[in-house]
Amino acid sequence: MPREDIESILERKVEALRKKDKSTEDRKVIDEVFDKETLLAVYKLMKEGIVDTVEFSISTGKEGNVFLATTPKGNFIALKIFRISTATFKRISRYIEGDPRFRGILGSHRKIIFAWTNKEFRNLHRLHSAGVRVPVPIRFHRNLLVMEYIGDENSPSPLLREVVLEDPEKVYNTLVDYVKRAYQKAELVHGDLSEYNVLIRDGEPVIIDCGQALLTEHPNAIDFLKRDVENLNRYFRRLGVNVMESESMIKMIVGG
Ligand code: ADP
Ligand code: MN
Repeated sequence: MPREDIESILERKVEALRKKDKSTEDRKVIDEVFDKETLLAVYKLMKEGIVDTVEFSISTGKEGNVFLATTPKGNFIALKIFRISTATFKRISRYIEGDPRFRGILGSHRKIIFAWTNKEFRNLHRLHSAGVRVPVPIRFHRNLLVMEYIGDENSPSPLLREVVLEDPEKVYNTLVDYVKRAYQKAELVHGDLSEYNVLIRDGEPVIIDCGQALLTEHPNAIDFLKRDVENLNRYFRRLGVNVMESESMIKMIVGG
């Protein structure tokens, strides 16, 4: 295809991305996130029929943005876009050292960020297969991750820290079970588990942000597990739940 055609298609796609009455703020985010390379990647997913429209930014984080998007059938999906920047590279590189899945991926910052996107996708897949409630992964491509959207037509589901739980003990027990399943079946430790990375949908927890999850064989896995467990216990103790003692909880998770 001649270059001009590609560019005019891209322009049209950007228009599609930008269509409807998007606010000035939305446009600003779009301008910042969708550099040409990212746009090409989104275009590929559009061509494949995975993404139809990109609606608006749900969240702007340290490493990138999460967008509400739709499929050609009109279903909602979440599109996480990792920013290709030195800052992103610096934040993630400390997690990469010691992970055998990254052995041999030397090279540019971009490649590492693509590998990181792939890692979050694979982590979600392993966790999902182990029976841990996470957004179901759909596709990754370069710095884009497409996954199940957790929310309804009005808004994404709130974070654990933002809701008043009807039955905090039940949610705590479910999360403890998930941490154990993750460890024993998926052989993963989340590594950043807290009330900031759990969404509550219909009273049930959904664990998100699994990019940094580590294999249990990672030399620091137990330290991260300890931190995850302590975060959970701290949060739910404050809600009046009779939480487990952290040491014995870790033994239970690791031991069987
Ligand atoms: P980070 O914290 O690194 O920016 P997260 O994966 O935690 O990235 O996503 C940022 C925010 O985007 C979350 O706090 C949540 O509000 C929203 N979000 C992430 N994934 C989904 C999803 N699958 N469905 C709905 N909202 C999501
Ligand atoms: Mn997060």
